[in-house]
Amino acid sequence: MQNIIFIAPPAAGKGTQSHLLKEIYGYEHISTGDMLREAVASESALGLEVKNIMDKGDLVSDDLMINLIKNKLTNIKGKPFILDGFPRTLNQALALDKLLNDSLYQVIYLKLDINEAIKRIEGRLTCSCGKTYNVFDDKLQPKQNGICDKCGRKLVKRNDDNVESFKVRYENFLTNTEKLIKYYDDKNKLHIIDVNRNVDDIFKDISKVVTND
Ligand code: AMP
Repeated sequence: MQNIIFIAPPAAGKGTQSHLLKEIYGYEHISTGDMLREAVASESALGLEVKNIMDKGDLVSDDLMINLIKNKLTNIKGKPFILDGFPRTLNQALALDKLLNDSLYQVIYLKLDINEAIKRIEGRLTCSCGKTYNVFDDKLQPKQNGICDKCGRKLVKRNDDNVESFKVRYENFLTNTEKLIKYYDDKNKLHIIDVNRNVDDIFKDISKVVTND
């Protein structure tokens, strides 16, 4: 099974697709955003350092992120993984290649229109277990209003899911993506998937990459 790296603008559905991949293929799901949000919730030293940066929609420093991923990859001991949210800069991509020592991976770029992204940000609700919902999408509604289907906890709106932070996150994405896309395209590892579609159709295309069809 191929390791998978997602590159995507905010609200493109990388979390949702990662959860499906984890359920069906048994991947380790490594979400740097979730790891940082857990650190913020537990008020650890890392959490206190990154809270304001995240709330504004800015990027956490490369050094900190590379260290975080280095530890995580050591912990999962060679199991197949999905990287959801890392790398976000060319520096991070270069560091990742050094850490992976030739492990095989494919890169999936989830392409989304900005207007659709804003709409998704406005409707998104998340659970602390990592599952995400969207009140504007029939297929992504929780069964019970405001409650996670998976663990029963209360759904919340992310601090950075507002139009102001979104703009900063989207700008950051545009600034860095071009270099990342070129880097992975040159390595013949890039797959572009249009995500202005429903979850199931997107998942079918992603599965083709995973299974090498
Ligand atoms: P996400 O859940 O992937 O949207 O990430 C939420 C926030 O966490 C981002 O807006 C950044 O502030 C921070 N973050 C997550 N991953 C990275 C990364 N690889 N590099 C820098 N900042 C990150």
